[in-house]
Amino acid sequence: MADKNAVVNVDEYRGVWTFAEQRDGNLLNVAIELLGEGRKIADELNTELTAVLLGKNVDDIAEKLIKYGADKVLYVEDDLLSTYTTDAYSKVIYELVEERKPEIFLIGATNIGRDLGPRLSARIHTGLTADCTRLNVDLENRRLMMTRPAFGGNLMATIVCPNYRPQMSTVRPGVMEKAKYNENHKGIIEKIHPYLKEEDIKAKVIEFVKSSKAEVPLEEAPIIVSGGRGLGTPEGFKLIEKLAKKLGAEVGASRATVDAGWIEQAHQVGQTGKTVRPKLYIACGISGAIQHLAGMQESDCIVAINKNPDAPIFKIADYGIVGDIYEILPELIDALDHV
Ligand code: FAD
Repeated sequence: MADKNAVVNVDEYRGVWTFAEQRDGNLLNVAIELLGEGRKIADELNTELTAVLLGKNVDDIAEKLIKYGADKVLYVEDDLLSTYTTDAYSKVIYELVEERKPEIFLIGATNIGRDLGPRLSARIHTGLTADCTRLNVDLENRRLMMTRPAFGGNLMATIVCPNYRPQMSTVRPGVMEKAKYNENHKGIIEKIHPYLKEEDIKAKVIEFVKSSKAEVPLEEAPIIVSGGRGLGTPEGFKLIEKLAKKLGAEVGASRATVDAGWIEQAHQVGQTGKTVRPKLYIACGISGAIQHLAGMQESDCIVAINKNPDAPIFKIADYGIVGDIYEILPELIDALDHV
């Protein structure tokens, strides 16, 4: 058996892989973001971009991945892969990695990705940088520079994996730009039927029970209305919810409001919360601290409502309204009733 502690010959490894996470036949946005980032990295390294897709009857997703820029899709199909289990997914991908030797493997930092990534990297015996918010390439050494918040977000750490391959990273959803869809993009779909047995999977999925705590799909939301300490009281979020409802938006929040117990942490946007990139972000009574901006500054259009004309949020806002949220928001809601 090979010495798993021995460093590998990194020159034997080529190609960028991304994990195409799907749930119930729906491709996650983060999978498209990884293709966007993976494409850039693969082009810089002059190598191939491969999406790794596991599941059952998800041929349409395999085709979609090509249109989103993958040169190749490794589509592993099996009944035992129709729902995610750590054992089956890590076994199948481990075998693919050992056989094909990619130099980089990117996985979304979703609940599944956070489970799969470490298991896989331990099995392959390589490093994993979790929850990355930026990726760069050191072309000279063909190394991936993986950056993530460290020490509670107080500093950004850039991590490299010099002696082992693939260089693995889980990437925070909502941070990277999505790949563009191109109907005419061509690539290869390689269908693989794995040798998987029921006994390979120690954990059995008996049924799915939806969490009673509603998930807040902020990363996927096209519109977000966020509330900050300027609301003054937890009841202020009722107004935010009202506007959000009118716009078909999700409710976001600054950490100050979460820390104050006004709203659940699942709503928090920012460095230690979620990173979002909606088409429209409305910040109400939020000052624009750097840690908040880190989570929303890539939004397409930012509207800020704040009574302080010098609030830093106005520096990045596309539209700024200087005024009291308790005057502006009711007017906005009223105006929306008449459109
Ligand atoms: P404030 O900074 O208090 O701003 C309130 C704003 O409301 C002010 O600009 C004020 O002018 C305005 N206002 C007041 N009343 C009204 C009114 N009636 N009408 C209109 N405007 C009004 N923060 C995050 O948000 N997300 C994070 O993920 C995050 N991570 C952090 C990680 C670390 C390591 C640290 C140190 C901090 C982090 N923070 C984070 C906290 C961050 O530094 C700020 O403290 C926080 O974002 C401030 O929240 P806020 O804008 O709601 O409150």
